[in-house]
Amino acid sequence: MSNIKTHTFDAVIVGAGGAGLMAALYAGKDANVAVISKLYPTRSHTGAAQGGVGAALANVDEDSWEWHAYDTVKGSDYLADQDSVDVMCKDAIPTIVELELMGLPFDRLEDGRISQRRFGGHTNKNTGKPVHRACHAADRTGHMILQTLYQQCIKNDVNFFDEFHVVDLIRVDDTVRGVVAIEIATGDFHIFHSKAVMFATGGWGRCWKVTSNAHSLTGDGAAICLRRGIPMEDMEFFQFHPTGIYRLGVLITEGVRGEGGVLINNEGERFMEKYAPNIKDLASRDVVSRAIYLEVADGKGINGQDYVYLDIRPETVNYYNEKEGDPTRIDRAYIESKLPDIADFTRTYLGVDPVTEPMPVQPTAHYAMGGIPTDVDGRVFLDTENTVLPGLYAAGEAACVSVHGANRLGTNSLLDLVVFGKRAGVDMVKYCREAELLPLPDNAADEVIAEFDRLRNGSGGVKPIDLRKQMQLTMTKNVSVFRTEEMMAEAVADLKEIREQYARNIQIDDKGKQFNTDLLEAWELGCLLELAEVTAVSALARPESRGAHARDDYPKRNDAEWLTHTFCLKVAEGEYRLDYKPVTLGRYEPKERVY
Ligand SMILES: Cc1cc2nc3c(=O)[nH]c(=O)nc-3n(C[C@H](O)[C@H](O)[C@H](O)COP(=O)(O)OP(=O)(O)OC[C@H]3O[C@@H](n4cnc5c(N)ncnc54)[C@H](O)[C@@H]3O)c2cc1C
Repeated sequence: MSNIKTHTFDAVIVGAGGAGLMAALYAGKDANVAVISKLYPTRSHTGAAQGGVGAALANVDEDSWEWHAYDTVKGSDYLADQDSVDVMCKDAIPTIVELELMGLPFDRLEDGRISQRRFGGHTNKNTGKPVHRACHAADRTGHMILQTLYQQCIKNDVNFFDEFHVVDLIRVDDTVRGVVAIEIATGDFHIFHSKAVMFATGGWGRCWKVTSNAHSLTGDGAAICLRRGIPMEDMEFFQFHPTGIYRLGVLITEGVRGEGGVLINNEGERFMEKYAPNIKDLASRDVVSRAIYLEVADGKGINGQDYVYLDIRPETVNYYNEKEGDPTRIDRAYIESKLPDIADFTRTYLGVDPVTEPMPVQPTAHYAMGGIPTDVDGRVFLDTENTVLPGLYAAGEAACVSVHGANRLGTNSLLDLVVFGKRAGVDMVKYCREAELLPLPDNAADEVIAEFDRLRNGSGGVKPIDLRKQMQLTMTKNVSVFRTEEMMAEAVADLKEIREQYARNIQIDDKGKQFNTDLLEAWELGCLLELAEVTAVSALARPESRGAHARDDYPKRNDAEWLTHTFCLKVAEGEYRLDYKPVTLGRYEPKERVY
């Protein structure tokens, strides 16, 4: 270990997206903290978030945090833990105000208060009609959150290790001692020795072929935890966002529908009127994604193909607004000011001007509801009895608190990052004050160094890119918007074969040390493969339809037997143990969801 550089901190936070930065800001106030990020912080995926962050500020319509909580629980198909949802929706209001005071440039109403827009599943509990709850900065809300938090961290002297790739957690029995990382520029291994570790490494949409997720979203933190004996919670619930750009998957925010955009099939019909008569195009994402699939299956995709149109042309929006008694009228200037990035994307990627033409869209793999199980202070659970692994934390998309249950509402992820990132940061400080720095075990990095040697020197002739494609194909075909036993079993079998190829025959081209992205991507593929397998195994074992997990062979939700969280623990290579934990209910009894 002599040639490995060791750094010592009270706490290390892996990930510099919204969750990691918010935690760092709070933990950094009273503890010696390092943030380690494989990307330069402001390139984190949080910066790609478009539409908004939810909080019942009631700046436009009557609203309350209890309505926000109700919508979140209903949207989750009753799988969210209602005590955690209450914390998130209540904390939302002061936390958004806090971000505003940090300097976040939200769009404003004429009277100067934060502007809010409608978003899927956000309603007035009395009337069931859409409510303006999403606080936004044009369609660059995540970008503004990320920039604001990064500036605050710099101002507060948080230590950053940018472009360091964390590859292992140092866990000794039921204690954590730090992480192992590779400095991307040199290829050198580093050990970060600490009392506490937090994973805020984001999602793993790259398991699928068509996804809104950045190339870097390979689930590293979740996979590292899985390998170190932490179960993954509710992995079968992966959200498909209804409006990805056709074939590319690049996201078109739900904010488009929030501003009045509608989905149209080949017959020119606004088909969501059939599926969700009250809230129509603003039904929750699982409902809208399924509707698109059903329209396509019914031959009503555009020109018989597997996509539909998203239409924000002023003539369409104004027609429907007038029909529904909504006084809002939009024009080109409105679209250019409220949705500038979307207009830019569709012009660049599709050659489509959304002011004059409808946009071709299809569902795209978007968001992991499941992940590393935690409590509301980011502390990681080892089992369904809520046994905490002291010193280990997770927050953001990598974590499962659980506030999103079987389906997340739009705007609730950015909210989850800032609310639970902050709470985890505060709790880490408390923990570090009392905990001792335990010694590093001998050869703490040996196991992961051996794995990297294997990947670097493998000569089996199988390229990571080919295995990645095979994984993405089987996940897209078999573990997607609609599922059956046969499909999921096929995915499990395919993934087993791909994993075995990965273990035996992988070969990369670049054998060097500096900026060896070939090697790091091969390692990331290992993470994706494991998370894909956990997803398929967890999904296969749930014989009901709930939220994003929709089964043709079990079309009904089964609350009597399946109002439970799945915990999937890796016991050996390709062997998993499934355990279940009851959902924490509260004010809202499970009901059939009607939108
Ligand atoms: C296109 C798009 C639009 C979205 N729009 C919205 C929206 O409008 N509203 C909303 O609420 N949600 C939205 N979401 C969801 C939301 O943006 C994400 O869930 C959220 O930003 C994730 O934040 P995070 O902090 O968990 O992780 P990320 O922002 O993904 O950051 C992950 C961090 O972990 C680091 N990292 C990962 N692996 C390693 C490793 N091995 N070593 C070191 N560092 C590592 C990365 O460098 C990065 O800093 C959107 C998502 C996408 C993809």
